[in-house]
Amino acid sequence: MLKIKFLSVFGLLWLFTSAQKCPILPTPAVFQTTNGQFISSGNLLIDPSNITPNLLNAFKNYALWSKGIQVISFVQNPMVKFKKLTNVKQDSYSINIAEQITISYSSEASCFYAWVSLLQLAQQTEGQLSFQKCFVKDYPKFQWRGLHLDVSRHFFTVDEIKRFLDLMAYYKFNTFHWHLTDDQGWRIEIKKYPLLTEVGAWRDSTVENHYTSLPRTYNHSHYGGFYTQEQIKEVVAYAADRFIEVVPEIEMPGHARAALAAYPEFSCTGEAHGVEGLWGVFDDIFCAKEESILFLQDVLTEILPLFPGMYIHVGGDEAPKTRWEGCPKCQAVIKANGLHDAHELQSYFIGRMDAFLTQNGKKLIGWDEILEGGLSPNATVMSWRGYDGGKAAAAENHDVVMCPGSHCYFDHYQGRGAEEPLAIGGFTSLEKVLSFDPIPLDMTTADAAYVLGAQGNLWTEYIPNMAQLEYMAYPRAIALSTTLWSENRPSYEDFFADLSTYHFPFLSSKNVHFSKSCLKPEIKTTRALDWGILIEKAPAKGNNAASTVLAEIKATKRKTKTVQITVDQGPNLPSKKLNVIAHKALGANINFITKPSPKYDNGSLTIVDGQLGARPWKGNEWLGFDSDSVAFDILLEKPIKIKELRIHTLHDPNSWIWAAQTYNISFSKTGVGNGIGDGYSTDEIITIDEINEKTQIIHVVLYGLGRIPTGSPGAGNVPWLFIDEIEVR
Ligand SMILES: [Zn+2]
Repeated sequence: MLKIKFLSVFGLLWLFTSAQKCPILPTPAVFQTTNGQFISSGNLLIDPSNITPNLLNAFKNYALWSKGIQVISFVQNPMVKFKKLTNVKQDSYSINIAEQITISYSSEASCFYAWVSLLQLAQQTEGQLSFQKCFVKDYPKFQWRGLHLDVSRHFFTVDEIKRFLDLMAYYKFNTFHWHLTDDQGWRIEIKKYPLLTEVGAWRDSTVENHYTSLPRTYNHSHYGGFYTQEQIKEVVAYAADRFIEVVPEIEMPGHARAALAAYPEFSCTGEAHGVEGLWGVFDDIFCAKEESILFLQDVLTEILPLFPGMYIHVGGDEAPKTRWEGCPKCQAVIKANGLHDAHELQSYFIGRMDAFLTQNGKKLIGWDEILEGGLSPNATVMSWRGYDGGKAAAAENHDVVMCPGSHCYFDHYQGRGAEEPLAIGGFTSLEKVLSFDPIPLDMTTADAAYVLGAQGNLWTEYIPNMAQLEYMAYPRAIALSTTLWSENRPSYEDFFADLSTYHFPFLSSKNVHFSKSCLKPEIKTTRALDWGILIEKAPAKGNNAASTVLAEIKATKRKTKTVQITVDQGPNLPSKKLNVIAHKALGANINFITKPSPKYDNGSLTIVDGQLGARPWKGNEWLGFDSDSVAFDILLEKPIKIKELRIHTLHDPNSWIWAAQTYNISFSKTGVGNGIGDGYSTDEIITIDEINEKTQIIHVVLYGLGRIPTGSPGAGNVPWLFIDEIEVR
């Protein structure tokens, strides 16, 4: 055992897995190995007679980038030969590695995919290249396999975008959705409107920490950047060499603050507001008057020749109608076109862009809000608010790209630990991404035919640099590409084995700052048999090691104390500190009179496990209630003397979560109790001290605010109540 301890994390995982492993991800349709290896010197000699010069060039560049392999044309005695097939499945290919390597392909793209698979199969040892003799037959399941990148909230250089594309190509993604404009920065040169980049590409401040943390503080550095049209062409060509199509997004009518900072005359009020430094949704959007529509069509006129692909994304999401409703010009457009309201005006606005793009031989794509007020005739819908938008669009015979927030938002957390870097919220684990299916279960086969595929979205409010971008994208992007490519999706265990055996070492070799959250053990807390809690360390899913007990902590009958546990997370991972408050109700049973919301029900032990929730809250480690009053009983082992109660709650008004306002606590042995305390508190921790009474049952009733007050997010709704611990001293 001692020796195993010093192996690298990848070697260690290899010992724990036994399934047939495949070096190719996404998993190919067929992978059959035969005995023996094909071995060569460090170079690859290929016969280029059956491939185009462009492809040969792409092969050379990509082999060098990915594995440092030199590719040499050598017709006389090549190691690799190519064969073009006709009448085979779209984008299919096969690789046969025997005494020679033969690649058969149907399209240029499929030949590149075969090449990438071959590079993934290549094992390099001491200047030699070796390949397990095998047969691979493969083709993609979905035609739209994308990653999205927001370069407005944070800017990424041309070299960084190229690196992003190189990594995408290694996992056979074929669509790069480039989110070029938003409230916080306009990132593409438009010659007719130079102020878009002179003014719109720069902001004077950027909000720090999570935007829901109050009071807000700002970094006042001048921040921004943009791509010249020449740079855009360079990136598009670079992507094309890797068989990736670039879909540009020019946001309209909402998320327009950067453009309107440059040209306020295209807003409803005409007032200049500056480029936004805060995240969120803003009322000032493009006015729906003719001048604004023509301005945006001018912008598109310069965009179109830069992007030879079919799709132009026009956003369409999160456009508040506040300004339109108060704007005489917008109201005049509504009247002149016989529209009923501002939602139909949004539909009219998008319809004008659809007609313009269709006329220019392109296809419009937009976020699912473009369904509101009626879908434009040729529009493709990108469904992000769940599957519903996509389902509705497919039912109307429109093409759909699925990217529901639940599975495809890679700006969400991927690990549960407090050490995860700040993210916008949510929880989307590697396993959850692998389980994603772009076609929902209740979709008919006819409607499913309209689902082009899916993509992962990387919004960059909390992704300030390339290292963090790689951390959020990888390895989740590999799981997504597997769900989109592989006809027979592997189990999580098989996927994890291939990932950790072959792809983590590859990512490390390219210095990719990928997340290791999926390797971390899980800390599980359960009720101990004789009152108290048991804390165990379970290995990460996919790793077959046994669980180990870290600590058993009794419900202490004496003084409350904090126990610190150091958790060894494994090789190459930092150890973790866990603080547990040992108190008298540790592991007690809870009888809920008000049930927690299923969305935030992490089990009744959550409030008596001695562990406080991480902040900013990540959904787990708390019990969330969506009712105005919350009642439950804490059942102790036997009557004991209690001096103090501390009820830990959460106050996060931006997330519609408010601390309890009043409380009522009573004690009893049987159920009917004597009052211990009631009162008013706006603190996150309600403390009731100097009790000195004996009891076995503690009745807790907490009352919320009733309704969220005017001026606060979610005004008029019932606030959430979140509890992470009831500490009994
Ligand atoms: Zn207007």
